[in-house]
Amino acid sequence: MPTKKTPTKTVAKAPAKKTSSVKSAKNATQKSTPKKSDAGTPLSVVIRRRIEAQKARFHANDNISKFIQPGELEGLVDEVAEKMQAVLESLVIDTESDHNTKNTSQRVAKMFIKEVFNGRYVEQPTLTKFPNVSRLNELMIIGPITVRSACSHHLCPIMGRIWIGVLPSKESALIGLSKYSRLTEWVMCRPQIQEEAVVELADMLEKKIKPIGVAIVMDADHFCMQWRGVKDRDSKMVNSVMRGAFLKDSNLRREFLSLLDKR
Ligand SMILES: [Zn+2]
Repeated sequence: MPTKKTPTKTVAKAPAKKTSSVKSAKNATQKSTPKKSDAGTPLSVVIRRRIEAQKARFHANDNISKFIQPGELEGLVDEVAEKMQAVLESLVIDTESDHNTKNTSQRVAKMFIKEVFNGRYVEQPTLTKFPNVSRLNELMIIGPITVRSACSHHLCPIMGRIWIGVLPSKESALIGLSKYSRLTEWVMCRPQIQEEAVVELADMLEKKIKPIGVAIVMDADHFCMQWRGVKDRDSKMVNSVMRGAFLKDSNLRREFLSLLDKR
């Protein structure tokens, strides 16, 4: 479940002692990163207040980049590292003598903010649009695009593939092929559930390209079914979204599905 409440100040302040060592090590290479405001308010709370002031949503699968100022991501990494260190301590792991876990909190924080959940914190990749000069109106299929995501229930990885079908209209704006991957990555690098992720991607493509139809198929392994839970190594989830012409025209839909290279 996406965290609804920002941790209280008490929690935020608990591992304060650890910070100095994490921070000073960082400061050797990086100049002042705004981690806390002058009043000592955690940066996450400062950002959260900006979001709430605009009455915006900040669920796990929402992008909040417009509420984050330059340089603040570094500060967020430090804040998450501090709290991650507290988690390791609560797991009764001796991070001082266990050299393998010494910097784990910092590594995990960086992985969350800069890599696997990065799609929450950075702006949408810029998409150069081309007018449909040759007035293409034939089915285009892009994929498979590798998908790396995580479920918002357990933060377990979701690894899979996506195929996108587009039926452009003569007036559609087209985007470069690599942009489909970049846009997919941006949407997927957030904690979420597969059903919502594909819908969001479809919405975005409809808005950008204004095609006659968009279709998406996603096929993924959910590690919360394999690593934990039922431990079923073969369970997969496949789902699809069909919009516009793909919804109305069963021949088009069949053509798209038959052309997917699902090996
Ligand atoms: Zn899960």
